[in-house]
Amino acid sequence: MASNAQHLLKSHQLRLTDMRMKVLDLFLARAEALSQNDLEQQLGKVDRITLYRTLRTFEEQGLIHKAMDGTDKQKYALCQHDCGQGAHHDHHAHFHCDTCGKTICVEDIAAPLIAPPPGFSVSETHLVIRGQCDQCH
Ligand SMILES: [Zn+2]
Ligand SMILES: [Zn+2]
Ligand SMILES: [Zn+2]
Repeated sequence: MASNAQHLLKSHQLRLTDMRMKVLDLFLARAEALSQNDLEQQLGKVDRITLYRTLRTFEEQGLIHKAMDGTDKQKYALCQHDCGQGAHHDHHAHFHCDTCGKTICVEDIAAPLIAPPPGFSVSETHLVIRGQCDQCH
């Protein structure tokens, strides 16, 4: 698992730091979106600012993307595509389970291309599905 995180960091031109390896390992181990709070709970005592910066760096470098799930929690999920610096291709739906609270990427369902009203421009489109996951049925 550690080598996987190392490989990902290197392929995104990121220096290997302890925090980056640990955070990435958690994303790789859990097949769901994680909030900063989730990560703090898993990591134990960590510097919150370093963790925040790590998430921002990962997002900027195309390792993780925002997984909007209709709740007020900002969650992130591992990018599956070849996202790179400032270029994300994760235009898919996110499923939020109302029972256990987990959020997962639904790669098979693409977010629709929106034609905005005249004079408006779109910067982000999010497709959120809510319901119950296969564990909670
Ligand atoms: Zn991405
Ligand atoms: Zn569930
Ligand atoms: Zn996603």
